[in-house]
Amino acid sequence: MNEISPLPGEFALIARYFAPLAAGFPGAYGLLDDAAVIAALPGQELVAKTDAIVGGVHFLLDDPPELIARKALRVNLSDLAAKGAVPRAYMLDIMLPRTVTEEWIGSFARGLAYDQAMYKAHLIGGDTDLTPGPVTIAIMAFGDIATGHMLRRSGALAGDTVFVTGAIGDAALGLKVLRGELPGLGELDKQFLVDRYRLPQPRVTLGPRLVGLASAALDVSDGLLADLDHLCQASKLDAVIDAARVPLSTAARSALAIESENLATILAGGDDYEILFTAPASVVERLTGLSNALNVPITAIGRMAPPSTGKAGVTVVGPSGEPLYFDRKGWTHF
Ligand code: ADP
Ligand code: MG
Repeated sequence: MNEISPLPGEFALIARYFAPLAAGFPGAYGLLDDAAVIAALPGQELVAKTDAIVGGVHFLLDDPPELIARKALRVNLSDLAAKGAVPRAYMLDIMLPRTVTEEWIGSFARGLAYDQAMYKAHLIGGDTDLTPGPVTIAIMAFGDIATGHMLRRSGALAGDTVFVTGAIGDAALGLKVLRGELPGLGELDKQFLVDRYRLPQPRVTLGPRLVGLASAALDVSDGLLADLDHLCQASKLDAVIDAARVPLSTAARSALAIESENLATILAGGDDYEILFTAPASVVERLTGLSNALNVPITAIGRMAPPSTGKAGVTVVGPSGEPLYFDRKGWTHF
């Protein structure tokens, strides 16, 4: 990076705002070397994931910088959790427009500091540059897993149950609230849904405990139906899920009661950052125990089946077992 006036220079910014986030991680060398070292742990390997977010696309340019930082980190931690990995370190590439203020960077770094303490991961390096475009943030996160045990999309077997953590649809409904599209909803419900959109809660405590129990897993970012379809394709199986069993928050239930078309938003919307996984019936009791111990809801929503048509895919069934069909505009009752 060259100068960002009236900001201090690149290295002053790194020293002031980012180097403190590397303290306590010896291999980061205080962000004073060209690269970092992540020590290999015996019997373990690293799971790596990167996700970029772009101002005006993935967040609003006037969103609070703390929140932008936390979301940028959390979407990556959600992937690590769904893969069964324990977060350890992350790198940050940040592209700043000339108009950004030092205050903005300070707030952004405070958001990272808060979340990295909570999730026990350290900043170990990155890159800082100017951009003629909107602020753009790419984080790459690294987590530990026993060698060969990363949870894959492809391990599901016919007869496995499909489970999902937490509640589905809140974030997509929250985005609708921000767009003024859910006028009939109460203020508390609206606020709850918007918060769920703004700040994902990656399931970092549960994910690593699913190793050895889940046959396949991924996090729900594109939408429950799309992500379950990814799992079906990778495992070469069908999935049949029961719409009535998909776990909903009180606020999402209210939205659905007001307008049944919201079912499409809930099932197809995305940004849930819950873990969708499959597991055999033999581990259900252990899953219940985990759910209680970690205080993370786990709900069975359906079942994996051999592909009925030769092409794997997802079927959603309604209250009396009839298939529901979704298109971009909503769903139809056949
Ligand atoms: P240059 O590009 O001038 O060689 P580098 O990009 O190598 O400088 O950055 C110097 C050090 O600062 C490296 O250790 C790098 O990982 C770290 N670094 C740069 N930008 C960031 C950032 N946004 N977050 C964390 N570390 C950073
Ligand atoms: Mg550089």
